[in-house]
Amino acid sequence: MPSDDLRKRLRQWIEESQRVVAFTGAGISTESGIPDFRSPGGIWTKVKPIYFEEFLASEAARRESWRRKLADRTRGAEPNRGHFALTELFLRGRLSSVITQNIDGLHQAAGIPDDRVIELHGNGSYAKCLQCERRYELEPVLAEFRRTEQAPLCECGGLIKTATISFGQALPPAQMQRAEQEALACDLFLTLGSSLVVFPAAGYPLLAKQHGARLVILNREPTEMDGLADLVIHDEIGPTMSDVVPLA
Ligand code: NAD
Repeated sequence: MPSDDLRKRLRQWIEESQRVVAFTGAGISTESGIPDFRSPGGIWTKVKPIYFEEFLASEAARRESWRRKLADRTRGAEPNRGHFALTELFLRGRLSSVITQNIDGLHQAAGIPDDRVIELHGNGSYAKCLQCERRYELEPVLAEFRRTEQAPLCECGGLIKTATISFGQALPPAQMQRAEQEALACDLFLTLGSSLVVFPAAGYPLLAKQHGARLVILNREPTEMDGLADLVIHDEIGPTMSDVVPLA
C-alpha cells in the first residue's frame, strides 16, 4: 500500500478509537539525537552493558557506569516531532497513556503528565539510592563524581545509581501492572520505534491484540511482530506522526 494510504488509515483508526495506548522504544528518540540500541551504529555495537550484579559487586563497574553517564552527550536532548504528536493526541483526549521502554524522560519533556507515562525501564535523567530510594538530581552527583572519581554514596550509606533498570534487574511490578491494564483496556495499540525483541515489554502489543485492540506498528525496519499487526508502516516516526497528527 502506498505510504499516503497507510497514513490515511492510521488517521482514520485514531479517529474511530476511544482509547489509544502508545508503546514507544528507542526509535522515537533517534530524531532527538539519542542513538537506539540495535540499529547499525546503535549503542550495543559500541559498549558492553553493565549488569546490575556487577554494579552491586564492583566499585570499578560503578565508576565505569558513572564515567559513561558523564560522557553521555545525549544528556539535555530535546523532544522531537514524534513525541509532540503523541502529546497532541493526549491533549485531544484520545491517548490514555504511553508505555515506554525509554529512559530519556522525553515524553514528559514534551508535555505528557508524569502519571500518564509508564516507564518500564526507569528514567536516566535522575538518580536514586538503591537502599532508601532517596532521589538525587543528576548534575550535582555528576559534578561530585568528576571531582572525586568515587562512585557516589547516599547519606544512608546506600549506593546511588541512575534510576534506570539495568540488565539483570527486575522490572518495576507496579509499572508492569499498569502497562498490562492499559494494554487490556485500549482499542488501538500504537507501537513506535521498537524492535519488539525485549521481553516482557514486547508482550504488551501481543496482549492488546489478543484482547481485541487494533495493533499498529510504526518502525523504520521490520519487527518480530509485523505478522500479527493490523497495520504496519515502515517509515520514519517524526515525518509520519507529524503528518498523521498535525499540531493544533
Ligand atoms: P531497539 O534499538 O531495539 O529498536 C529501535 C527500533 O527503532 C529499530 O527497529 C529501528 O529500526 C527503529 N527506529 C530507529 N529510529 C527510527 C525512526 N526515526 N523512525 C522509525 N523507526 C526508527 O530499541 P527498543 O526496542 O526500545 O529496545 C529496547 C531497549 O532500548 C530498551 O531497553 C530501552 O530502555 C533501550 N534504549 C532507550 C533509549 C532511550 O531512552 N532513548 C535509547 C537506547 C536504548
